[in-house]
Amino acid sequence: MKCFYARETEAHDPIFRLTHGAILRNAEQAERAGRLLTGLDLLSLPVQEPPVAPRAALEAVHTAQFLDYLETCWDEWQKLPGAGPEVVPNAFPQRSFATYPTGIAGQAGWHMGDTSAPIGPNSWRATRRAADCAVAAADAVLAGDRAAYALTRPPGHHTSADMAAGHCLLNVSAIAAARLREGHDRVATLDIDVHHGNGTQDIFYHRDDVLTVSVHADPSAYYPWFVGHAHEVGAGAGEGFNLNIPLPRTSTDDAWIAAIETALDRIAGYAPGALMVSLGLDAHERDPLLGMKVSWDGFTRAGRLIAEAGYPTVLVQEGGYLSEDLTTSLVCFMNGFLGRE
Ligand code: ZN
Repeated sequence: MKCFYARETEAHDPIFRLTHGAILRNAEQAERAGRLLTGLDLLSLPVQEPPVAPRAALEAVHTAQFLDYLETCWDEWQKLPGAGPEVVPNAFPQRSFATYPTGIAGQAGWHMGDTSAPIGPNSWRATRRAADCAVAAADAVLAGDRAAYALTRPPGHHTSADMAAGHCLLNVSAIAAARLREGHDRVATLDIDVHHGNGTQDIFYHRDDVLTVSVHADPSAYYPWFVGHAHEVGAGAGEGFNLNIPLPRTSTDDAWIAAIETALDRIAGYAPGALMVSLGLDAHERDPLLGMKVSWDGFTRAGRLIAEAGYPTVLVQEGGYLSEDLTTSLVCFMNGFLGRE
């Protein structure tokens, strides 16, 4: 299985994080990639650098205005009096009444849904290269590979067409799904990150050519707080083509696996030509974000189930935060997916 990774993504190493009123170190640290690379090494899966994808691959899911913002915002931010080292918004619009601002401080609030995805001097380059990994993995599958893996960071699934959030910049998962859509009439997405994939849902919410399915911790008491409920089923042409399966944060393997089975049943009914999996590993019981209580055996079972579904599959790395266990979480999922246990 081809695995794609770009070293330039390590230059994005965000610092700022605001949680419960306390300023903490950001959880989406560059060291995550090293832990995941160690996992690929243990699996004897070599990584390759992706080619640069055309901007059109990003514009398939993002607005041109948002892409321009991400590319230029850090330079503009530095012109503000007393600017900090990272772009972190502190004012947010009521979008229903709002007019797009001309100044960078307002634009930051427009394009960033919360304070958890700070943008530093190398962030654009990093997220752009992460998107290249996602596109390269999709292209490998479109060319006939059974599956491919993109080791992407920063992650992507909380970012909508024009708003970054939740440690995410470009929505690498949605970019991969849209790329697969170029070769298939119907594409399904399955998000098993412990957080709801609200950005991916938003991007495809009005479409019936991309089925979006997410298994996650109940958002009524967990990030992303406002979206990810079972009653969100799609709208317009997309009505009936979004499935959310929220679970209690106390959920262990059996409940999580049963939800993934339900998700795969819905996907089977849709009969997609290809599948994009948002592979968050933060449902693990010792992940520092404490979202759920899945064990390594649960990850192996999930990998096996997803592989047995039989679709050409792109695996896009999403969450899974710094702990001694992150490496093993990836190894366990992949062992199941590759039928190696
Ligand atoms: Zn997550």
